Amino acid sequence: MDVTQLDPLPDLVPARMVNEYVYCPRLAYLEWVQGEWDDNLDTVEGRFAHRRVDLESRGDLPEPEAAPDGERLATRSLLLSSEALGVVARVDLLELEGRRAVPVDYKRGALPETERRAHDPERVQLCLQGLLLREAGYDCREGVLYFAESRTRVEVPFDPALEALTREAVAGLRALAASGRMPAPLVDSPKCVRCSLAGICLPDEVNRLGHPDLPGDVRRLMPARDERMPLYVQEQGAVVGKQGERLVITLKGKELAQVRLLELSQVVLFGAVQISTPAVQTLCEAEVPVVYLSRGGWFYGMTRGGWHKNVELRIAQHRLVDRGEAGALARSIVAGKIFNQRTLMRRNLPERNPRLVGRLALYVRQARHARDGATLLGVEGMAAHDYFENFPHLFRGAGAWAGAVFAASGRNRRPPRDEVNAVLSFLYAMLVKECTLAVQAVGFDPFLGVYHAPKYGRPALGLDLCEEFRPLIADSVCLTLFNQGELGGAHFVRRARGVTLTAAGRRAVLEGLERRMNQLVTHPVFGYTISYRRIVEVQARLLRAAVLGEIPAYRPFTTR
Ligand code: SF4
Repeated sequence: MDVTQLDPLPDLVPARMVNEYVYCPRLAYLEWVQGEWDDNLDTVEGRFAHRRVDLESRGDLPEPEAAPDGERLATRSLLLSSEALGVVARVDLLELEGRRAVPVDYKRGALPETERRAHDPERVQLCLQGLLLREAGYDCREGVLYFAESRTRVEVPFDPALEALTREAVAGLRALAASGRMPAPLVDSPKCVRCSLAGICLPDEVNRLGHPDLPGDVRRLMPARDERMPLYVQEQGAVVGKQGERLVITLKGKELAQVRLLELSQVVLFGAVQISTPAVQTLCEAEVPVVYLSRGGWFYGMTRGGWHKNVELRIAQHRLVDRGEAGALARSIVAGKIFNQRTLMRRNLPERNPRLVGRLALYVRQARHARDGATLLGVEGMAAHDYFENFPHLFRGAGAWAGAVFAASGRNRRPPRDEVNAVLSFLYAMLVKECTLAVQAVGFDPFLGVYHAPKYGRPALGLDLCEEFRPLIADSVCLTLFNQGELGGAHFVRRARGVTLTAAGRRAVLEGLERRMNQLVTHPVFGYTISYRRIVEVQARLLRAAVLGEIPAYRPFTTR
């Protein structure tokens, strides 16, 4: 199916979306066609500025004939629409005097310091309200923008030039949506600094990778860290419930912890942990995913509030895989992983090993040029063999014992036969969970990979994105925990079938992982500093840009 076959716009376009289109056509496309939304300070303040009109009862528009001459009326929060104009708008406040109507639109912030004392997107949105009122039979020649912060009214005349601009914007938005092609990001624009979708759009990053000759630095337009945190619950028999704006975790009626909903990025439940329906409903509403894992970290599934609306991306993803065109992405992903394995070895081996480092560099080149999937798989396997053969040398100090047990058994799983493998398997499971959430948040189908083959219940695309991060996050955390003595023999249980982490062991690993995910790191291509968790998000969005053809190739995150 071609994306242009999708029904891109309903009959009525919200005036707010026309405002976004005039601000930036890409913003309107992301929001309207792809269903993206994110809050920033401006959007939160905007809602605050509207709180009074939103709270007050919604009025009806009286018939113009019924409007008493000379009498002044005011109606709040009025919904107007017109099939002829193809627009729907909410008027914050309507001032009426006989047949004369003046719409008033509330804006956050202070009066803009421009010649007209108003920006075009707001003027156009107001003018649309005026056109709707004229359609309803009112005499409407101007509107008012009310700036909440400076408490200033600015009159906006609906002159022919503004009317033409407004009609062009409505037609332009419809044509854009029908085209099925997302506009390129603005170049080095100050608008992006205030844009609520900057972290989703990644304007400078997409421009840098798509057009390296464009001027300007890559600006960090998103917070360096996500202030919200995951909640891990692993006490067997615990119950997660909701009380007001908090989640409360109890065990046999005794309260273990409370967390504010606002502070949560995800809820991760291990094994026999229950969660109440009101808690799930609230988390769905807040778009906070709930992830269900076995006690040992095996991924069962997740709940989240509705599907991502970006069907266009899922169509492009399926088309790419169906047509066998995902090879370039798979090669980049595997090459990125081996590159990072090489970096970990080069930086951490107690003695230089140029032969190993050289071989891993050769595998990177071979992965980049692998002629088919089987060859790529073979190269990845050879690199993994060399890498894990030397992995025990990276354990030292308090972790020397762990290196020795790993040297004896090598990399193994299901079940892991030694302590290091138990930690690696657990960390890889957590990383897959993190990457699966990231690709799903972007709008991908997480079960259709570009490198990992589809298999029932396996989040193949999450596994794909995970590859470049295995050495940088999981392997690195494993080494740190053993070498710094945060994990010792008491954190493991040896059974006939293998070695597992105790609850205290899992807690120590999760703490180590969270420290790493929140650690700030400088992006080698973009030059800004953000946390590893943010980098996973950025990489998922770059994968999206590559699948949609916005950038010529996916560039994995690598460090030197
Ligand atoms: S970040 Fe910039 S280019 Fe991207 S949607 Fe916002 S304003 Fe447009």
